[in-house]
Amino acid sequence: MPIRQLSETMVNQIAAGEVIERPASVVKELVENALDAGASRVEVVTAGGGLALIRVSDDGAGIPVGELELAIARHCTSKLGDDIHDIRSLGFRGEALPSIGSVSRLTVRSRTASADSGAEIRVEGGRLSPVRPAGANRGTLVEVRDLFFATPARLKFMKGERAEATAAADVVKRIAIAFPAVRFTLSGTDRSTLDLPAVGEGADARLARIAQVMGKDFPENAIGIDAAREGVHLGGYVSVPSFTRANALQQYAYVNGRPVRDKLIASAIRGAFADVLPRDRHAVTALFLTLDPAHVDVNVHPAKADVRFRDPGMVRGLIVGAIRQALAEAGIRSATTGAAAMMGAFRPGPTSYGHAGPANGHRTFHAGFRASAAAGYDPMQSPSRPLQAGFGESEQAAFDAGPMTSADARAGSGDIAPELLTAQLGAARAQVHENYIVAQTADSLIIVDQHAAHERLVYEALKTALHSRPVPAQMLLIPEIVDLPEEDAERVASHAETLRRFGLSVERFGPGAIAVRETPSMLGETNAAQLIRDLADEIADSDTAETLKERLDKIAATMACHGSVRSGRQLRAEEMNALLRQMEATPGSGTCNHGRPTYIELKLADIERLFGRR
Ligand code: ADP
Ligand code: MG
Repeated sequence: MPIRQLSETMVNQIAAGEVIERPASVVKELVENALDAGASRVEVVTAGGGLALIRVSDDGAGIPVGELELAIARHCTSKLGDDIHDIRSLGFRGEALPSIGSVSRLTVRSRTASADSGAEIRVEGGRLSPVRPAGANRGTLVEVRDLFFATPARLKFMKGERAEATAAADVVKRIAIAFPAVRFTLSGTDRSTLDLPAVGEGADARLARIAQVMGKDFPENAIGIDAAREGVHLGGYVSVPSFTRANALQQYAYVNGRPVRDKLIASAIRGAFADVLPRDRHAVTALFLTLDPAHVDVNVHPAKADVRFRDPGMVRGLIVGAIRQALAEAGIRSATTGAAAMMGAFRPGPTSYGHAGPANGHRTFHAGFRASAAAGYDPMQSPSRPLQAGFGESEQAAFDAGPMTSADARAGSGDIAPELLTAQLGAARAQVHENYIVAQTADSLIIVDQHAAHERLVYEALKTALHSRPVPAQMLLIPEIVDLPEEDAERVASHAETLRRFGLSVERFGPGAIAVRETPSMLGETNAAQLIRDLADEIADSDTAETLKERLDKIAATMACHGSVRSGRQLRAEEMNALLRQMEATPGSGTCNHGRPTYIELKLADIERLFGRR
């Protein structure tokens, strides 16, 4: 075939292949156009999952009659000056309307404020009808019927009306979060409908809109983010670690008001939560990055979902740093949801606890544990040590110093040293079901999940130890040989140096095998084979985008999981109190590595309410 210039319609259909993937893409482009036109009200109507009909109307600036034909012509836009680096509108490519017109039956009807009547233009599968007068309110109405009728191959890729309608609704929600001053409605014969009244401008309005879209329980379980670095500002909210989802769909992110689904941002969020969430859980977020438009390229993707930052490392650092700091400051708040009526009375622990180190308000407590906590984890001194299997009881003398109370684990009787009642986690009174420590403070009842708490403490101790000196190791009498797929063996062996810092000593043992010679003492008896396999997975998973620190943290988390005693170990009063004190002294110990709370607090007042005394 000789070379020839493609027809206008063909060119548009090719562009449509990229820009208009499914009905939701049409909704996105049309809603963005309405917002670029300064609308205060955007109404979306769909039918047949958007394949039969999408109608978007707005009360924006409108299109002058003389420009209607240009609006649906390729590469025609009113939004771009002469600088491609200074983009302040959502659209700028001049591609959406001609692309949509080439694959559907499109009508654009509009009237500007200064015109006394409206006009409309139609395109069907790329074929244009002349502009003609039409009655219209101020603003623009765009109607798209029979999407993809002109490119039936595309129709085969649609996921069914229900799924397409859901995707369209998701698009409206995503955009709506960035424009709280605009009223959005979604209606029609499709099942997903929305009505988001305008809530105004500013931080409160933004939060109100977030609640409208994401549900009231998100703000109730979220922490505010507000940080800046080198002219880049990050604001918004992230969920507390105990409020998570099974996928990342509830992670909303915006760059200069533009909704994006950006890999860098997603990976930074994952990195920030890596410490407190298991791999298969995802935080809920609404994050807003604001920066000089010249420092971010939004023109890297036809649908403008990706962006490219001039300094990606800095942006990543800002996101990870800001979220981690906010989580640390929020200390140990845990989710309020999942609460049955009675659980409503159970309070997550107070927020003040944990991040300021041993001196954070526990001034009444004696010096011994303060010193050991401040010096980092020392398994020979650590109060949590007795939880581990394989150690002699005699060494528990370590925490017999100081006015420790003698709460009897079984009877719960005995005197309580008054200063323990003022400690954050109070005085231990009993252990029940061999895993839950019941403690009391002056005005509350505390229940600690011993297993979760211990896991967290080992994790924090491993991390601390990394920065000071190697973690003490215990030699295995007979090295354990672990068989692995060759790539995994290679991966683990290549990290031998790092693992040694954690007290895990491994070496190659011929093809497809690893010999384990030492394991970290603080893990106690551990299943070395399982630990090595998990570590191999972990190392394979951490992509190159992660910093060494993040990788080390993950290795520590994997190890902590293995070391933690399962429930079922009876504790003596001293051991329980020592655990409570260790928790108080350890930042972030309010949640376990999987983001579950390690303890809950029930205020006396709430208990009295439960019993109808108040
Ligand atoms: P882009 O948004 O990239 O400029 P589009 O093809 O989406 O390209 O739209 C082309 C032009 O049509 C826009 O630049 C704008 O001038 C005009 N336009 C489209 N939709 C609207 C609307 N809802 N209100 C006012 N003008 C509109
Ligand atoms: Mg547009």
